[in-house]
Amino acid sequence: MSAIDSLPPLREVIARHDLSAKKALGQNFILDLNLTARIARLAGDLSGADVLEVGPGPGGLTRGLLAMGARRVLAVEKDPRCLPALAEIAAAYPGRLEVLQGDALAVDALARLTPPIRIVANLPYNVGTELLVRWLTPPVWPPVWASLTLMFQREVAERIVARPGDDAYGRLALLAQWRCDAQIVLSLPPEAFTPPPKVHSAVVHLTALPAPRYPADPLVLNRVVAAAFNQRRKMLRSALRGIAPDIEGLLEAAGIKPTARAEEIGLEQFCALARLLQG
Ligand code: SAM
Repeated sequence: MSAIDSLPPLREVIARHDLSAKKALGQNFILDLNLTARIARLAGDLSGADVLEVGPGPGGLTRGLLAMGARRVLAVEKDPRCLPALAEIAAAYPGRLEVLQGDALAVDALARLTPPIRIVANLPYNVGTELLVRWLTPPVWPPVWASLTLMFQREVAERIVARPGDDAYGRLALLAQWRCDAQIVLSLPPEAFTPPPKVHSAVVHLTALPAPRYPADPLVLNRVVAAAFNQRRKMLRSALRGIAPDIEGLLEAAGIKPTARAEEIGLEQFCALARLLQG
């Protein structure tokens, strides 16, 4: 019996349901239920919250979320082999776990949940960044979700929390930090997973701010930041030449030296430039 619930240990569940890990599905499972409970706790207060979990696999994190009191968990899993194992968890927590079989990129799972909503996932690495970008770019802000607690490979986690001047600083940092607080809250070595991946991993916790940190039109800001970082080693006056006729004047008006490079410029200045471009 495990410490967090009365269900069998995950090794037994995996053996019984023949859930040998498939690399193509990014299957690196966490079998330590104390660790999955710890990740669930990092998501904040789950009681009274609906939780979206992507990629429950054999259900270690799912069990953590339910044991930590989530009002309801909707788990979206692509691999149909996992369904019988997840059904056993659903039976142990009547009415609190719904499993949706399918590709998380193709189903509108958030529409099925009631706020407050927290998204918690040990993401498949091949779809993690795409899902994050989608969650960070809803049609309106604030989004329906209150927080994201997501496992990434360490290098992606560093790109999300990076600051100007860091090697990892770029589009993802600006996108995430414009409208969220973002922090790495846990780092994990490859051995924490079965089978161990080649890379280290980290959990990032993002909370949605009620409004963007600085005003800007999302599309204009995205266009400027994309152009600036597509040629991150160039001076901004050349990297952004195609964006507006008098880009040097606009850069100066935004308080940015035209000879500076994208990696030195903070969110506030990028937003100021986006506002000037829109004007
Ligand atoms: N949550 C489990 C854990 O922590 O042990 C499993 C995590 S494993 C890294 C990623 C899971 O995502 C696998 O169960 C895999 O089958 C599933 N998956 C992969 N691609 C998916 C997709 N596009 N949509 C939904 N689930 C997916």
